[in-house]
Amino acid sequence: MNWRIPLSDIDFGFEETTAVLDVLDSRWLTMGGVTQAFESEFATYIGVNHALAVTNCTAALHMACMAIGLGPGDEVILPALTFVATANAVRYTGATPIFADVTSENNLNISPESIERLITPRTRAIITVHYAGYPCDMPRIMNIAKKHQLYVIEDDAHAVGSELEGIKLGMWGDIGCFSFFSNKNMTTGEGGMVTTNNEVFAEKLRLLRSHGMTSLTWDRHKGHAWSYDVVELGYNYRIDEIRAALGRTQLHKLAENNIRRRALTKLYRSALYELAPEITIPFENHPGVSAAHIMPVLLPAGTDRILFMENMKACGIQTSIHYPPIHHFSAYQKIKISALPITDDVAEREVTLPLYPAMRDADVFLIAQTIQGVMALSLHQQSSQMATI
Ligand SMILES: *Cc1c(COP(=O)(O)O)cnc(C)c1O
Repeated sequence: MNWRIPLSDIDFGFEETTAVLDVLDSRWLTMGGVTQAFESEFATYIGVNHALAVTNCTAALHMACMAIGLGPGDEVILPALTFVATANAVRYTGATPIFADVTSENNLNISPESIERLITPRTRAIITVHYAGYPCDMPRIMNIAKKHQLYVIEDDAHAVGSELEGIKLGMWGDIGCFSFFSNKNMTTGEGGMVTTNNEVFAEKLRLLRSHGMTSLTWDRHKGHAWSYDVVELGYNYRIDEIRAALGRTQLHKLAENNIRRRALTKLYRSALYELAPEITIPFENHPGVSAAHIMPVLLPAGTDRILFMENMKACGIQTSIHYPPIHHFSAYQKIKISALPITDDVAEREVTLPLYPAMRDADVFLIAQTIQGVMALSLHQQSSQMATI
């Protein structure tokens, strides 16, 4: 499909090409010096003591769940309105995900009240997802965690560069998990990062990333080690130098690209407010600084969402849904859930509009005008469908 305006687009240029070619020329492809540089630059950017680059955010989440010692019988509270990987990571350990509701139509993040209602003697941890990059209420969530002695894992897949009270997300919880998948704010194709200030977790995460081995191929290449012991049941969740090189160049562009994403988001708000006031735009006046990863809007209740998306497609504009909530998936039917009325409502009405740094202001106005037209059309189509029934 040749979209006039795609949902997202990467910001790659000659810097990325050069960085990758330099790695190829160096003839060292597996985790080494470039990865170490990427990790240390990322740690400095977030303000965290330890950052470990990994295969993807799903691996980061899995290792985070292992590092805090989750296992069968444990419960972890997380939102149902997230990508399935957030909950899958809990299940890999044998623990049970417990789905909390989101806060409101204006705040699609996990509700602290909903978290508190779901705490049982088996609860071990909370996973926060900063939807679209807008920070969860971390001060309150950290207080709840402290009161009940729970760990907090942040799924920061949307939130690279987001801040709350001047502190970057990824610094608030015990462990932060980032994604560099190709539609995220910075990308390495596939890739991720796990961050922590806790020495014990850092050491455990380092072992889990590479087969539980006490030394790396890189250490032996450098003459730092001759052999190794295996002290954990670890995995191969390593990144490679090609991706790490991409990550370094992408990290350089991140702050500026996030500023552009926020400016476009602001423009969307004013254009839609004027041209399509029936559309609800969540996260109005949200605290903190958002990485503005995606542009979610809510259609009025009763709108035929698929028809809306098809009409947008007919005008060359790609849209998407974030997310079909996890508790509706077939693979999750055996998991006990409590009522999630706000999640069920917003998940049915949510549509994600295009957002990427290279979008022009004129694209935002074109999309807002198209929505204005499509809303009028879909009202008409719905009423004529009713008439034929
Ligand atoms: C993208 C995403 C993930 C998974 O990231 P991968 O790097 O693709 O494994 C997890 N959680 C959320 C909220 C995401 O958006």
